[in-house]
Amino acid sequence: MSDSKSRLDNLLKGKKIIIWGARMVGQGFSRYCSSNNLDTLCFIDSDPSLQNQTIKGLKVFSPNDVGRFISSFPKEELLIVIAVSIKSSEIISTLKNFSLDHLEFITYSDYSNIFFTIDVVGACNLRCASCAHSIPDHGVPMNIMSFENVKKVLNKIKNDAPLCTHVALYSWGEPFLHPKLDQIIELFHQSNIAVALSTNLSHENFDKILKPLKKNPENLKVSLSGYYDQAYDNTHSGGDITLVKSNLYKLRYFIDKYKLSTHVDINYHLYRDNNGKNLEKMQNLADELNFGLSTVHALVMPLERVFNHCDGVSDRQTEDLSKNLLVTIDEGIQASSEKPLPQGVCPFRENQLNINADLTVPVCCLVFNRNHLVSNNYLDTSLQDINLNKSNSDICSKCMKLKLPEYNMGFNKEGWKSFAMQKTSSDVS
Ligand code: SF4
Repeated sequence: MSDSKSRLDNLLKGKKIIIWGARMVGQGFSRYCSSNNLDTLCFIDSDPSLQNQTIKGLKVFSPNDVGRFISSFPKEELLIVIAVSIKSSEIISTLKNFSLDHLEFITYSDYSNIFFTIDVVGACNLRCASCAHSIPDHGVPMNIMSFENVKKVLNKIKNDAPLCTHVALYSWGEPFLHPKLDQIIELFHQSNIAVALSTNLSHENFDKILKPLKKNPENLKVSLSGYYDQAYDNTHSGGDITLVKSNLYKLRYFIDKYKLSTHVDINYHLYRDNNGKNLEKMQNLADELNFGLSTVHALVMPLERVFNHCDGVSDRQTEDLSKNLLVTIDEGIQASSEKPLPQGVCPFRENQLNINADLTVPVCCLVFNRNHLVSNNYLDTSLQDINLNKSNSDICSKCMKLKLPEYNMGFNKEGWKSFAMQKTSSDVS
Protein backbone atom coordinates (compact mmCIF):
# COMPACT_ATOMS: atom_id res chain seq x y z
CA MET A 1 0.00 0.00 0.00
CA SER A 2 1.35 3.45 -0.89
CA ASP A 3 2.23 5.84 1.91
CA SER A 4 -0.33 8.42 0.70
CA LYS A 5 -3.08 5.80 0.60
CA SER A 6 -2.45 4.58 4.13
CA ARG A 7 -2.30 8.16 5.47
CA LEU A 8 -5.55 8.99 3.69
CA ASP A 9 -7.29 5.79 4.81
CA ASN A 10 -6.34 6.47 8.43
CA LEU A 11 -7.98 9.88 8.26
CA LEU A 12 -11.13 8.57 6.58
CA LYS A 13 -11.69 5.52 8.76
CA GLY A 14 -14.75 5.83 11.02
CA LYS A 15 -15.71 9.24 9.62
CA LYS A 16 -18.91 10.38 7.98
CA ILE A 17 -17.54 11.89 4.82
CA ILE A 18 -18.90 14.98 3.07
CA ILE A 19 -17.38 15.38 -0.39
CA TRP A 20 -16.98 18.99 -1.50
CA GLY A 21 -16.97 18.87 -5.31
CA ALA A 22 -19.54 16.81 -7.21
CA ARG A 23 -17.72 16.89 -10.53
CA MET A 24 -15.15 14.40 -11.70
CA VAL A 25 -12.65 14.53 -8.84
CA GLY A 26 -15.48 14.16 -6.32
CA GLN A 27 -17.08 11.37 -8.31
CA GLY A 28 -13.76 9.51 -8.50
CA PHE A 29 -13.28 9.96 -4.78
CA SER A 30 -16.83 8.74 -4.16
CA ARG A 31 -16.01 5.58 -6.14
CA TYR A 32 -12.89 5.16 -3.98
CA CYS A 33 -14.99 5.50 -0.81
CA SER A 34 -17.55 2.91 -1.97
CA SER A 35 -14.88 0.39 -2.86
CA ASN A 36 -13.19 0.88 0.52
CA ASN A 37 -16.47 0.65 2.48
CA LEU A 38 -16.16 4.20 3.73
CA ASP A 39 -19.18 6.09 4.98
CA THR A 40 -20.12 8.96 2.65
CA LEU A 41 -22.98 11.31 3.54
CA CYS A 42 -23.42 13.74 0.65
CA PHE A 43 -21.78 16.09 -1.84
CA ILE A 44 -21.46 19.85 -1.53
CA ASP A 45 -21.07 21.97 -4.66
CA SER A 46 -21.47 25.68 -5.25
CA ASP A 47 -22.54 25.10 -8.88
CA PRO A 48 -26.35 25.53 -9.01
CA SER A 49 -26.56 23.12 -11.97
CA LEU A 50 -25.47 20.29 -9.65
CA GLN A 51 -27.42 21.19 -6.55
CA ASN A 52 -30.34 18.95 -5.53
CA GLN A 53 -29.23 16.29 -7.99
CA THR A 54 -28.35 12.81 -6.80
CA ILE A 55 -24.96 11.63 -8.01
CA LYS A 56 -23.72 8.12 -7.22
CA GLY A 57 -26.55 7.82 -4.73
CA LEU A 58 -25.50 10.94 -2.82
CA LYS A 59 -27.47 14.17 -2.74
CA VAL A 60 -25.68 17.36 -3.79
CA PHE A 61 -26.22 20.26 -1.37
CA SER A 62 -25.32 23.89 -1.81
CA PRO A 63 -22.77 25.08 0.80
CA ASN A 64 -25.57 27.16 2.35
CA ASP A 65 -28.02 24.28 2.70
CA VAL A 66 -25.80 21.46 3.90
CA GLY A 67 -25.77 22.65 7.54
CA ARG A 68 -29.30 21.49 8.26
CA PHE A 69 -28.65 18.04 6.75
CA ILE A 70 -25.54 17.36 8.79
CA SER A 71 -26.71 18.97 12.03
CA SER A 72 -27.93 15.65 13.46
CA PHE A 73 -24.45 14.09 13.29
CA PRO A 74 -21.84 14.66 16.04
CA LYS A 75 -19.38 17.12 14.58
CA GLU A 76 -16.33 15.07 15.61
CA GLU A 77 -17.55 12.27 13.33
CA LEU A 78 -17.81 14.53 10.28
CA LEU A 79 -15.03 15.12 7.79
CA ILE A 80 -15.18 17.37 4.72
CA VAL A 81 -12.99 16.16 1.87
CA ILE A 82 -12.38 18.88 -0.69
CA ALA A 83 -12.18 16.98 -3.96
CA VAL A 84 -11.58 19.42 -6.82
CA SER A 85 -8.73 19.70 -9.29
CA ILE A 86 -7.82 23.36 -9.28
CA LYS A 87 -9.90 25.43 -6.91
CA SER A 88 -9.27 23.95 -3.45
CA SER A 89 -7.67 27.09 -1.98
CA GLU A 90 -10.71 29.11 -3.10
CA ILE A 91 -13.01 26.65 -1.30
CA ILE A 92 -10.94 26.66 1.91
CA SER A 93 -11.14 30.43 2.02
CA THR A 94 -14.96 30.28 1.86
CA LEU A 95 -15.61 27.65 4.57
CA LYS A 96 -16.12 30.41 7.14
CA ASN A 97 -18.78 32.12 4.99
CA PHE A 98 -20.92 29.00 5.23
CA SER A 99 -20.35 28.37 8.97
CA LEU A 100 -18.53 25.15 8.15
CA ASP A 101 -15.13 26.15 9.52
CA HIS A 102 -15.84 24.31 12.80
CA LEU A 103 -15.65 21.01 10.89
CA GLU A 104 -12.50 19.05 10.20
CA PHE A 105 -11.50 19.12 6.54
CA ILE A 106 -8.80 17.69 4.28
CA THR A 107 -7.90 18.32 0.66
CA TYR A 108 -7.89 15.26 -1.56
CA SER A 109 -5.21 16.71 -3.84
CA ASP A 110 -2.79 16.65 -0.87
CA TYR A 111 -2.86 12.85 -1.25
CA SER A 112 -3.37 12.48 -4.98
CA ASN A 113 -1.93 15.55 -6.62
CA ILE A 114 -1.99 14.66 -10.28
CA PHE A 115 -5.04 14.46 -12.54
CA PHE A 116 -4.84 12.68 -15.88
CA THR A 117 -6.47 13.47 -19.19
CA ILE A 118 -6.06 11.00 -22.03
CA ASP A 119 -7.12 12.18 -25.47
CA VAL A 120 -7.97 8.70 -26.74
CA VAL A 121 -9.07 10.21 -30.06
CA GLY A 122 -7.07 13.05 -31.58
CA ALA A 123 -9.80 13.97 -34.08
CA CYS A 124 -13.32 15.32 -34.14
CA ASN A 125 -16.35 15.01 -36.41
CA LEU A 126 -17.16 18.72 -35.95
CA ARG A 127 -15.31 21.98 -36.61
CA CYS A 128 -16.48 24.28 -33.82
CA ALA A 129 -15.36 27.88 -34.19
CA SER A 130 -13.77 28.18 -30.76
CA CYS A 131 -11.92 24.84 -30.93
CA ALA A 132 -8.49 23.97 -32.33
CA HIS A 133 -10.00 21.39 -34.68
CA SER A 134 -11.59 24.20 -36.70
CA ILE A 135 -8.15 25.54 -37.67
CA PRO A 136 -7.60 24.53 -41.30
CA ASP A 137 -4.51 22.34 -41.94
CA HIS A 138 -3.44 22.53 -38.31
CA GLY A 139 -0.81 19.88 -38.93
CA VAL A 140 -1.42 18.03 -35.66
CA PRO A 141 -1.70 14.22 -35.99
CA MET A 142 -5.28 12.98 -35.77
CA ASN A 143 -4.53 9.50 -34.40
CA ILE A 144 -6.65 7.18 -32.36
CA MET A 145 -4.82 5.70 -29.37
CA SER A 146 -4.63 1.93 -29.81
CA PHE A 147 -6.21 -0.23 -27.12
CA GLU A 148 -2.77 -1.73 -26.42
CA ASN A 149 -1.34 1.73 -25.79
CA VAL A 150 -4.28 2.65 -23.57
CA LYS A 151 -3.44 -0.43 -21.45
CA LYS A 152 0.20 0.62 -21.21
CA VAL A 153 -0.78 4.18 -20.32
CA LEU A 154 -3.06 2.89 -17.57
CA ASN A 155 -0.27 0.74 -16.12
CA LYS A 156 2.09 3.69 -16.06
CA ILE A 157 -0.55 5.94 -14.48
CA LYS A 158 -1.03 3.39 -11.70
CA ASN A 159 2.69 3.50 -11.10
CA ASP A 160 2.98 7.30 -11.34
CA ALA A 161 -0.11 8.00 -9.24
CA PRO A 162 -1.20 4.99 -7.17
CA LEU A 163 -4.12 6.98 -5.75
CA CYS A 164 -5.52 7.95 -9.15
CA THR A 165 -9.30 7.61 -8.82
CA HIS A 166 -10.52 9.18 -12.07
CA VAL A 167 -9.40 10.03 -15.60
CA ALA A 168 -10.89 12.16 -18.36
CA LEU A 169 -10.80 10.29 -21.67
CA TYR A 170 -10.92 13.43 -23.81
CA SER A 171 -9.10 16.65 -24.41
CA TRP A 172 -9.47 18.05 -27.95
CA GLY A 173 -10.98 14.98 -29.60
CA GLU A 174 -14.36 13.26 -29.70
CA PRO A 175 -13.92 10.05 -27.66
CA PHE A 176 -17.01 8.36 -29.13
CA LEU A 177 -15.11 8.02 -32.42
CA HIS A 178 -12.96 5.37 -30.72
CA PRO A 179 -14.17 1.92 -31.80
CA LYS A 180 -13.12 0.38 -28.46
CA LEU A 181 -14.32 3.08 -26.08
CA ASP A 182 -16.54 0.57 -24.27
CA GLN A 183 -13.54 -1.68 -23.58
CA ILE A 184 -11.44 1.29 -22.47
CA ILE A 185 -14.08 2.32 -19.90
CA GLU A 186 -14.22 -1.26 -18.66
CA LEU A 187 -10.45 -1.36 -18.36
CA PHE A 188 -10.33 1.72 -16.13
CA HIS A 189 -13.25 0.48 -14.04
CA GLN A 190 -11.40 -2.80 -13.46
CA SER A 191 -8.69 -0.69 -11.83
CA ASN A 192 -11.37 1.13 -9.86
CA ILE A 193 -10.79 4.39 -11.73
CA ALA A 194 -13.81 6.53 -12.59
CA VAL A 195 -14.21 7.80 -16.15
CA ALA A 196 -15.28 11.17 -17.53
CA LEU A 197 -16.31 11.60 -21.16
CA SER A 198 -17.26 14.58 -23.26
CA THR A 199 -19.13 14.55 -26.54
CA ASN A 200 -20.85 16.76 -29.08
CA LEU A 201 -23.50 13.99 -29.30
CA SER A 202 -23.96 14.74 -33.00
CA HIS A 203 -23.76 11.10 -34.12
CA GLU A 204 -26.25 9.47 -36.47
CA ASN A 205 -25.35 5.97 -35.34
CA PHE A 206 -26.48 5.88 -31.70
CA ASP A 207 -24.72 2.53 -31.22
CA LYS A 208 -21.49 4.50 -31.05
CA ILE A 209 -22.89 6.13 -27.91
CA LEU A 210 -24.84 3.20 -26.53
CA LYS A 211 -22.04 0.62 -26.35
CA PRO A 212 -19.79 2.82 -24.18
CA LEU A 213 -22.79 4.16 -22.23
CA LYS A 214 -23.72 0.64 -21.15
CA LYS A 215 -20.36 0.47 -19.34
CA ASN A 216 -21.74 3.14 -17.01
CA PRO A 217 -19.10 5.88 -17.27
CA GLU A 218 -19.36 8.21 -14.27
CA ASN A 219 -19.69 11.52 -16.08
CA LEU A 220 -20.81 12.51 -19.54
CA LYS A 221 -20.51 16.11 -20.66
CA VAL A 222 -22.54 17.09 -23.72
CA SER A 223 -21.17 20.27 -25.28
CA LEU A 224 -23.51 22.40 -27.37
CA SER A 225 -24.32 26.00 -28.17
CA GLY A 226 -27.98 26.55 -28.96
CA TYR A 227 -31.43 25.02 -29.14
CA TYR A 228 -32.35 26.14 -32.65
CA ASP A 229 -30.45 25.35 -35.85
CA GLN A 230 -29.19 28.80 -36.67
CA ALA A 231 -27.52 29.60 -33.36
CA TYR A 232 -26.11 26.08 -33.02
CA ASP A 233 -24.81 25.97 -36.59
CA ASN A 234 -22.99 29.30 -36.15
CA THR A 235 -20.61 27.80 -33.61
CA HIS A 236 -20.91 23.99 -33.82
CA SER A 237 -20.03 23.66 -37.49
CA GLY A 238 -20.80 20.28 -38.94
CA GLY A 239 -23.16 19.25 -36.15
CA ASP A 240 -26.93 18.93 -36.20
CA ILE A 241 -28.86 20.15 -33.14
CA THR A 242 -31.99 18.16 -34.05
CA LEU A 243 -29.86 15.02 -34.00
CA VAL A 244 -28.28 16.11 -30.70
CA LYS A 245 -31.70 16.71 -29.13
CA SER A 246 -33.00 13.34 -30.29
CA ASN A 247 -29.85 11.72 -28.86
CA LEU A 248 -30.43 13.49 -25.54
CA TYR A 249 -33.84 11.81 -25.39
CA LYS A 250 -32.22 8.46 -26.21
CA LEU A 251 -29.63 9.01 -23.48
CA ARG A 252 -32.37 9.45 -20.91
CA TYR A 253 -34.26 6.42 -22.27
CA PHE A 254 -31.26 4.09 -22.13
CA ILE A 255 -29.94 5.41 -18.81
CA ASP A 256 -33.32 4.55 -17.29
CA LYS A 257 -33.72 1.28 -19.19
CA TYR A 258 -30.33 -0.08 -18.06
CA LYS A 259 -30.47 1.59 -14.63
CA LEU A 260 -27.20 3.41 -15.26
CA SER A 261 -25.84 6.02 -12.88
CA THR A 262 -23.98 8.15 -15.46
CA HIS A 263 -24.28 11.82 -14.60
CA VAL A 264 -25.10 13.87 -17.72
CA ASP A 265 -24.14 17.52 -17.80
CA ILE A 266 -25.22 19.66 -20.76
CA ASN A 267 -22.41 22.15 -21.09
CA TYR A 268 -23.92 25.18 -22.80
CA HIS A 269 -21.41 27.54 -24.45
CA LEU A 270 -22.75 31.07 -24.18
CA TYR A 271 -22.50 33.40 -27.18
CA ARG A 272 -24.34 36.57 -28.17
CA ASP A 273 -26.53 34.62 -30.57
CA ASN A 274 -27.75 31.96 -28.11
CA ASN A 275 -28.14 33.56 -24.66
CA GLY A 276 -31.90 34.27 -24.78
CA LYS A 277 -34.66 32.04 -26.10
CA ASN A 278 -32.15 29.34 -27.14
CA LEU A 279 -30.83 29.01 -23.60
CA GLU A 280 -34.30 29.07 -22.08
CA LYS A 281 -35.49 26.24 -24.35
CA MET A 282 -32.40 24.13 -23.70
CA GLN A 283 -32.80 24.62 -19.95
CA ASN A 284 -36.41 23.39 -20.28
CA LEU A 285 -35.20 20.33 -22.16
CA ALA A 286 -32.51 19.64 -19.54
CA ASP A 287 -35.12 19.92 -16.78
CA GLU A 288 -37.51 17.62 -18.63
CA LEU A 289 -34.81 14.98 -19.03
CA ASN A 290 -33.43 15.53 -15.52
CA PHE A 291 -29.95 16.39 -16.82
CA GLY A 292 -27.81 19.16 -15.36
CA LEU A 293 -27.14 22.23 -17.50
CA SER A 294 -24.06 24.33 -16.83
CA THR A 295 -23.22 27.46 -18.76
CA VAL A 296 -19.80 28.75 -19.70
CA HIS A 297 -18.90 31.93 -21.54
CA ALA A 298 -17.28 30.76 -24.75
CA LEU A 299 -13.63 31.64 -24.97
CA VAL A 300 -11.06 31.31 -27.71
CA MET A 301 -9.05 28.08 -27.90
CA PRO A 302 -6.34 26.93 -28.17
CA LEU A 303 -3.76 28.95 -26.24
CA GLU A 304 -1.73 29.56 -29.42
CA ARG A 305 -4.57 31.62 -30.91
CA VAL A 306 -4.82 33.74 -27.75
CA PHE A 307 -1.05 34.28 -27.79
CA ASN A 308 -1.32 35.49 -31.40
CA HIS A 309 -4.10 37.86 -30.45
CA CYS A 310 -2.04 39.25 -27.55
CA ASP A 311 0.92 39.65 -29.92
CA GLY A 312 -1.25 41.64 -32.33
CA VAL A 313 -1.27 38.86 -34.93
CA SER A 314 -4.86 38.56 -36.03
CA ASP A 315 -6.48 35.80 -38.01
CA ARG A 316 -9.81 35.92 -39.79
CA GLN A 317 -11.28 33.03 -37.85
CA THR A 318 -10.60 34.56 -34.43
CA GLU A 319 -11.87 37.95 -35.59
CA ASP A 320 -15.13 36.44 -36.85
CA LEU A 321 -15.58 34.43 -33.67
CA SER A 322 -14.90 37.48 -31.49
CA LYS A 323 -17.93 39.28 -32.95
CA ASN A 324 -20.15 36.60 -31.40
CA LEU A 325 -18.39 36.44 -28.00
CA LEU A 326 -20.16 37.83 -24.96
CA VAL A 327 -16.75 38.40 -23.40
CA THR A 328 -13.89 39.21 -25.75
CA ILE A 329 -10.36 37.91 -25.15
CA ASP A 330 -9.21 41.28 -23.80
CA GLU A 331 -12.25 41.63 -21.54
CA GLY A 332 -11.87 38.06 -20.22
CA ILE A 333 -8.21 38.68 -19.42
CA GLN A 334 -9.05 41.98 -17.74
CA ALA A 335 -11.80 40.42 -15.59
CA SER A 336 -9.77 37.36 -14.59
CA SER A 337 -6.66 39.41 -13.80
CA GLU A 338 -8.54 40.91 -10.88
CA LYS A 339 -8.28 37.53 -9.14
CA PRO A 340 -4.63 36.69 -9.86
CA LEU A 341 -3.01 33.38 -9.00
CA PRO A 342 0.06 33.54 -6.75
CA GLN A 343 3.13 34.48 -8.77
CA GLY A 344 4.65 31.58 -10.67
CA VAL A 345 1.70 29.26 -9.99
CA CYS A 346 -0.36 27.65 -12.73
CA PRO A 347 -2.76 24.85 -11.75
CA PHE A 348 -2.84 23.61 -15.37
CA ARG A 349 0.88 22.91 -15.06
CA GLU A 350 1.08 21.80 -11.44
CA ASN A 351 -1.54 19.11 -11.14
CA GLN A 352 -2.70 18.17 -14.64
CA LEU A 353 -1.10 15.68 -16.97
CA ASN A 354 -2.37 15.40 -20.52
CA ILE A 355 -1.54 12.54 -22.81
CA ASN A 356 -2.27 13.01 -26.49
CA ALA A 357 -3.51 10.18 -28.72
CA ASP A 358 0.00 9.93 -30.20
CA LEU A 359 1.39 9.56 -26.63
CA THR A 360 3.07 12.97 -26.64
CA VAL A 361 2.59 15.09 -23.52
CA PRO A 362 1.97 18.83 -23.92
CA VAL A 363 2.90 21.29 -21.19
CA CYS A 364 -0.82 21.60 -20.45
CA CYS A 365 -4.26 20.90 -21.88
CA LEU A 366 -4.55 24.40 -23.37
CA VAL A 367 -1.85 24.11 -26.02
CA PHE A 368 -2.63 22.24 -29.20
CA ASN A 369 0.30 22.19 -31.59
CA ARG A 370 3.37 20.05 -30.94
CA ASN A 371 5.76 22.96 -30.22
CA HIS A 372 5.37 22.80 -26.46
CA LEU A 373 5.81 19.16 -25.56
CA VAL A 374 7.29 17.98 -22.30
CA SER A 375 7.57 14.39 -23.51
CA ASN A 376 7.55 12.74 -26.94
CA ASN A 377 6.22 9.56 -25.39
CA TYR A 378 4.56 9.32 -21.99
CA LEU A 379 5.43 5.63 -21.74
CA ASP A 380 9.17 6.30 -21.97
CA THR A 381 9.40 9.38 -19.76
CA SER A 382 9.55 9.38 -16.00
CA LEU A 383 7.08 11.55 -14.12
CA GLN A 384 10.06 13.34 -12.61
CA ASP A 385 11.36 14.30 -16.09
CA ILE A 386 7.91 15.38 -17.24
CA ASN A 387 7.61 17.67 -14.22
CA LEU A 388 11.12 19.02 -14.75
CA ASN A 389 10.39 19.75 -18.42
CA LYS A 390 7.15 21.45 -17.43
CA SER A 391 8.94 23.72 -15.01
CA ASN A 392 11.47 24.61 -17.73
CA SER A 393 8.86 25.17 -20.43
CA ASP A 394 9.58 28.40 -22.30
CA ILE A 395 5.98 29.52 -22.83
CA CYS A 396 4.83 29.46 -19.22
CA SER A 397 6.45 32.69 -18.05
CA LYS A 398 4.91 34.62 -20.96
CA CYS A 399 1.57 32.93 -20.42
CA MET A 400 1.52 33.76 -16.70
CA LYS A 401 2.57 37.34 -17.38
CA LEU A 402 -0.40 37.71 -19.73
CA LYS A 403 -2.67 36.17 -17.03
CA LEU A 404 -3.82 33.46 -19.42
CA PRO A 405 -4.13 30.71 -16.77
CA GLU A 406 -6.62 32.96 -14.94
CA TYR A 407 -8.43 33.70 -18.24
CA ASN A 408 -8.78 30.02 -19.06
CA MET A 409 -10.05 29.25 -15.57
CA GLY A 410 -12.66 32.00 -15.98
CA PHE A 411 -11.69 33.60 -12.66
CA ASN A 412 -13.93 36.40 -11.41
CA LYS A 413 -17.22 35.20 -12.85
CA GLU A 414 -18.94 38.42 -11.75
CA GLY A 415 -16.48 40.43 -13.83
CA TRP A 416 -17.19 38.21 -16.89
CA LYS A 417 -20.92 38.59 -16.34
CA SER A 418 -20.69 42.34 -16.15
CA PHE A 419 -18.85 42.46 -19.53
CA ALA A 420 -21.42 40.06 -21.02
CA MET A 421 -24.31 42.22 -19.83
CA GLN A 422 -22.97 45.16 -21.79
CA LYS A 423 -23.45 43.28 -25.08
CA THR A 424 -26.64 43.31 -27.04
CA SER A 425 -28.07 39.84 -27.42
CA SER A 426 -28.51 38.69 -30.99
CA ASP A 427 -30.23 35.44 -29.99
CA VAL A 428 -31.39 33.70 -33.14
CA SER A 429 -34.20 31.21 -33.30
S1 SF4 B 1 1.39 28.81 -17.70
FE1 SF4 B 1 0.11 28.72 -19.52
S2 SF4 B 1 1.20 27.37 -20.92
FE2 SF4 B 1 2.10 27.06 -18.91
S3 SF4 B 1 0.95 25.34 -18.08
FE3 SF4 B 1 -0.09 27.19 -17.39
S4 SF4 B 1 -1.69 27.59 -18.87
FE4 SF4 B 1 -0.27 26.11 -19.78
